[in-house]
Amino acid sequence: MRNFPTVLENISDLNFDQLQSLILLSKKFKNGDIPLGHIEMSTGESPIIATSFLETSTRTKHSFAIAIKRLGAMYIDFNAEASSLKKGESLEETLLTLSHQGVGMCIIRTSVSHQLAEFKANPPLKIINGGDGVNEHPTQALLDLFTILECKHGPKNKTIAIIGDCIHSRVGHSLCSLLPQFGMKVILCGPEEFLPKNIPNNIEVTNKLEEAILKSDILYLLRIQKERHQSKSLPSDEEYHQQYGINLEKLKRFSKLLPIYHPGPANIGVEISMEALKSPYYFGYEQVKNSIFMRMAIIKSMFHS
Ligand code: ASP
Repeated sequence: MRNFPTVLENISDLNFDQLQSLILLSKKFKNGDIPLGHIEMSTGESPIIATSFLETSTRTKHSFAIAIKRLGAMYIDFNAEASSLKKGESLEETLLTLSHQGVGMCIIRTSVSHQLAEFKANPPLKIINGGDGVNEHPTQALLDLFTILECKHGPKNKTIAIIGDCIHSRVGHSLCSLLPQFGMKVILCGPEEFLPKNIPNNIEVTNKLEEAILKSDILYLLRIQKERHQSKSLPSDEEYHQQYGINLEKLKRFSKLLPIYHPGPANIGVEISMEALKSPYYFGYEQVKNSIFMRMAIIKSMFHS
């Protein structure tokens, strides 16, 4: 169905029909309209799917692991630290080895932006980008869109403020590529040094939190990606919270108690207060729940296309 890519690196690897069919399929999985545990390869066998996280992860890795198991596939986690990658083997050689062992798909997280592009011409197996450096995290953006739709927060004609370290956020980049296609307006907000310089015309940018909140229907918070900053002059946690952190008191002050999204991990007391995270305005756990259904839909579509 619909020629899904063999390597899903960026949102732009999917056309609008494919994006829509992923949302429909996630919904079917969520509603229980499709029996679980039935993906198979052209040979009729159930596939072996691997995850390889070369950067830390909690949510993404476990959500993929659960999605794979619910689809009835065999799951292996390829521990990069204890693998031949540590002995100098290239990622390509490692993937070829996995494919000769019968692995049909690998979900890869890497700290190197665009590292997966090299596999597009001649993919050794199916690949899903689980987050590559500062480039993209397409499956996160897709599950966010699914949640926005499910929770009736948009997307059509609604505005989302993405607040925080926009320049280093692969999630932010995928959201900017995805949400406008569904009629959503995106505003990037944060301190000047966290805002990208070259932005497409359809994305707004501001360093004024009040302006972003007042214009928006949803807030999407990003943590400061400390591991990707060269400069030492980052704002302190307290300074950042005061200027750009979201707490209920601030939102009440602007009469805007908006839904709050976060891809996790959330830094409490920095981009979000404990009170806001524990409030009914926080949708981070809905995102986590929906992540399983969207990732099942992505995997199934890539095997059955
Ligand atoms: N979990 C997301 C990512 O891997 C967001 C983050 O780490 O801040 O990009």
